[in-house]
Amino acid sequence: MNRIVNAIKGRLPAHFADRMEERIAGLRDFERLESLDLSALTITCDDGALRDQYIVSVLDSQNLKGVISVSPDLIGTDGFLDYAALRDIQARGHELAFHGNDHSPFTDIRPLSKLTDKVADGLTRLRDHGLSTQTVVYPCGNNNRRIRQALAPFFRAGVSTWFGVNSGKRINRYAIRRVPFGAYASQHAPSEHWYRDMIDAALSEPRWIILMLHPSSTEHTPDHTAMLQRLTQYAREQGLPVRSVSAHLDALQPASPRDNGHFQAGVS
Ligand SMILES: [Zn+2]
Repeated sequence: MNRIVNAIKGRLPAHFADRMEERIAGLRDFERLESLDLSALTITCDDGALRDQYIVSVLDSQNLKGVISVSPDLIGTDGFLDYAALRDIQARGHELAFHGNDHSPFTDIRPLSKLTDKVADGLTRLRDHGLSTQTVVYPCGNNNRRIRQALAPFFRAGVSTWFGVNSGKRINRYAIRRVPFGAYASQHAPSEHWYRDMIDAALSEPRWIILMLHPSSTEHTPDHTAMLQRLTQYAREQGLPVRSVSAHLDALQPASPRDNGHFQAGVS
């Protein structure tokens, strides 16, 4: 099996090959999200830019909580939120996710021990500044079977850029799918109607929609921010919870929110 997967991976673009590997090789116990019996809408912003504040404001105005993905090397640099702003966002109930130290794709960092050392260092730096993270949002979405295994002890869940709405019994909690919104969304027919249909579908069967926003990109326009406001309002009116990643994991597993047998809070 591994020989076949590796032979295929050598010939294909990384994301396609890594997704195929994930499909063919199957889920390991630590990757299995036991049951998705509740729907939710999650709003994520990459990459901790100043313009993420517009989205935070939209969410705050409706008393909703989202996810901001941050990279320690970028915090406080030109165009990015600083530690004080991030502490304030966290204090208002939003989730901060780890997004690599300098946004380099994890598949570029070798050997694996170097990656885990860097992640441990990045998490320590965040913690030293009063920020806590339970979720990794893979920089550029890159992840594979070895990376998921190596990083699972540090995080409760991992979010990729792999396209999709999470549903059914086969959800990889370390390769959770997202749907682009605004920037990077053009190839997916992203009309407001299209997103509303997605919300409607989540009202009739369990689906976890995670929207991926890049507010700092020029492709993300004020119209997108206004559309997001209407969509989150619509979700609320229809009764679809709008939650962060960790809040939805809590909702799915209320009895033992961190008991997936792998994640250890506070590992360093
Ligand atoms: Zn990013």
